[in-house]
Amino acid sequence: MSRFFSARYQTLTPYTPGEQPQDMKYVKLNTNESPFPPSRKAVEAAAEAAERLRLYSDPECRALTARFCAVFGTEPDEVIFSNGSDEVLNYAFMAFCDEAHGAVFPNITYGFYPVFAELNRVPYTELPLRYDFTVDVDAYYGVHKTIFLANPNAPTGIALRREEIERILRGNPESVVVVDEAYVDFGAESCLPLTKQYDNLLVVQTFSKSRSMAGARLGFGVGNPELIRDLNTIRYSTNPYNVNSMTMAAGIGVLSDEEYTRANCRAIEENRAFTVDAMRRMGFAIPDSLANFIFACHATVDGETIYRELKARGVLVRHFSKPAICDYNRITIGTREQMQALLDTLRDILEERT
Ligand code: PMP
Repeated sequence: MSRFFSARYQTLTPYTPGEQPQDMKYVKLNTNESPFPPSRKAVEAAAEAAERLRLYSDPECRALTARFCAVFGTEPDEVIFSNGSDEVLNYAFMAFCDEAHGAVFPNITYGFYPVFAELNRVPYTELPLRYDFTVDVDAYYGVHKTIFLANPNAPTGIALRREEIERILRGNPESVVVVDEAYVDFGAESCLPLTKQYDNLLVVQTFSKSRSMAGARLGFGVGNPELIRDLNTIRYSTNPYNVNSMTMAAGIGVLSDEEYTRANCRAIEENRAFTVDAMRRMGFAIPDSLANFIFACHATVDGETIYRELKARGVLVRHFSKPAICDYNRITIGTREQMQALLDTLRDILEERT
């Protein structure tokens, strides 16, 4: 730390992103990216947009908004785009929380929430998951705090039903409920249809997972126009050109190729079922996941050993050292070939150790 670093941030512990090795030698199953290439329409549109990089991007994202509204059935004033969904999540902490109205989220969830809370000096409460890692919906009634729920949750992959989230919305009419649906396209129920009905609901999604665009950094929030206006006040006060023009074009391209996105999501769901079935037969406990990853704990070999041994053999997964989940690894679902490589490697490791 330099002697100039603001006292405000001296105790901030930043988020630790997953490893991004730059050599391609790993079967990379650690950061929940899509194993499929982006849509050709996205790539071609981005290449064309590169010719116009001299100009600033459109701060109103008009062309992307028009395409988005046609696909998602929203109105232009109900959506905001961001540089990855992390950015709109940060905006939500800035816009809808303060000292008097803190944040609440599960004790096991996306690790960025406590970082955003600390960055913005927002007091926060972490409500414990149940023993089986499910969210205790009743604990979220009348909390008088801004609620952040990843659905499906990370790193467990377990999803709440839409009606359970609706109960939380009704139980907190004076608080914003942010539903982070980064992984919703792999079998869970989206709360997007509820945004017209509940003025306290903000649904956040990303193009990073189901649309194979993690490197482009494109996320969005959908909610009541007044919520979106608040988020835009924050956006225009930080970075009005937050979505670059190549990413915007790629977003329009991929939204013109919904068949491709749907086919990729179905392939991930099939590969997930195949992997879970095989790993359970090897002695892994895995909660039912509706995400593009699974959360796996072995009966006899500890989580860190599995992470290390997999890495030594060229398979990268995500291990968290937090005591409540250190027996587990989060494993991204990839192609069938990648999953076969994972299973073969796990078999070798377990044979050596049992
Ligand atoms: N929410 C959750 C639950 C995530 O796991 C991630 C990915 N790390 C994000 C949001 C952010 O994704 P992105 O910024 O790539 O849209």
